[in-house]
Amino acid sequence: MRRELNNGNRSGRPYQQGPSEGYRPASQGAPTISLPPPPSEPTAVHPSPPSESNDAHPAKASRGGNTYDLLTCVGEGTYGKVYKAKKNDTGLIVALKRIRMEGEKDGFPVTAMREIKLLQNLRHENVIRLHEMMVSKGSVYMVFEYMEHDLTGLLSLQGINFTPANLKSLNYQMLSGLAYLHDKSILHRDMKGSNILLNARGELKLGDFGLARVYSKFKRDDYTNRVITLWYRSPELLLGETVYGPTVDTFSAGCIMLELFTTKPVFQGNDEIHQLEVIYSILGTPSEEDWPDVKDLPWYELVKPKESLPSKFREIFSKWLSPAGLDLAQGLLAFDPARRLLADQAMQTPYFTSEAPPMEKPLQ
Ligand code: ADP
Ligand code: MG
Repeated sequence: MRRELNNGNRSGRPYQQGPSEGYRPASQGAPTISLPPPPSEPTAVHPSPPSESNDAHPAKASRGGNTYDLLTCVGEGTYGKVYKAKKNDTGLIVALKRIRMEGEKDGFPVTAMREIKLLQNLRHENVIRLHEMMVSKGSVYMVFEYMEHDLTGLLSLQGINFTPANLKSLNYQMLSGLAYLHDKSILHRDMKGSNILLNARGELKLGDFGLARVYSKFKRDDYTNRVITLWYRSPELLLGETVYGPTVDTFSAGCIMLELFTTKPVFQGNDEIHQLEVIYSILGTPSEEDWPDVKDLPWYELVKPKESLPSKFREIFSKWLSPAGLDLAQGLLAFDPARRLLADQAMQTPYFTSEAPPMEKPLQ
């Protein structure tokens, strides 16, 4: 099965909620547009100011050489459009992510620059590969390996049916990509279905590094609190924490793991306070023992739960997950970030190491 996904705007940034972002059909029969040759080194890109004509069509051929034919628009996020394209000389299928320059007073957008710089140094089978950068008519494109699906799109397809072995493989690949990032001192900070990409070989890769940053493993630094789309945001972020680390990503990974099994995002809050309530209604309210430092968080007093609730986690999810799977998900969703599983620890848990079935990539 190889289906072209109609994956319109499934991305979104903090405070935008993934699945409700609305799908936009891929533009079938979009005009074929050739782009001029890419510069060989991404760092050599010197974008010129945006031009008016860029809105309607990404670019027009200006000279020969290596060009890309745009095939369809496969995604549109806050920061630009993503096209499926074919490289003319080799026939290689790629994804072109156009960097939106409109409204940028100071030239090249900082977020895009950050994304490119980080991606240039990443080489891992579970992290999206940036092939090169390309400039055309004032637009800058990131040229990525092409992935047939994103997880949100895939899970929304009728009749999608992953086997337990497929689910194990997908979870393992997700954690493996995260473990690699964290080992390189990078926080992803936007883990969610639409940023997790899958190809027809069943390979899963983490994408969208627009919010990623390098963090200090040895120093307790302050970072912005406004990260990670609401439904995937950890309780400490929801309570105002600014000193955080890789476990903000593993909480999101726990949410995604459950979503893979149930096919729906599990914690669907409307705002920060409601998000906490939804988490509490499933995981129970955290006790002093579960999370000793919770009372030091900035907004703890403000949003203190009125009553203490028991966890319904096992009751709800034992329908879908094995006991070892439940243990792993619970470890990823632990309230106390200091006790929450790190990605490499999660990869060593019995769900992967000792429980049948073995992993199997979901081939399409
Ligand atoms: P944004 O920052 O706008 O969210 P993303 O990098 O997440 O940008 O891309 C938006 C959407 O485009 C993704 O959710 C996905 O559906 C699609 N997409 C992104 N990268 C690729 C790729 N390499 N191959 C295929 N589709 C992609
Ligand atoms: Mg995205």
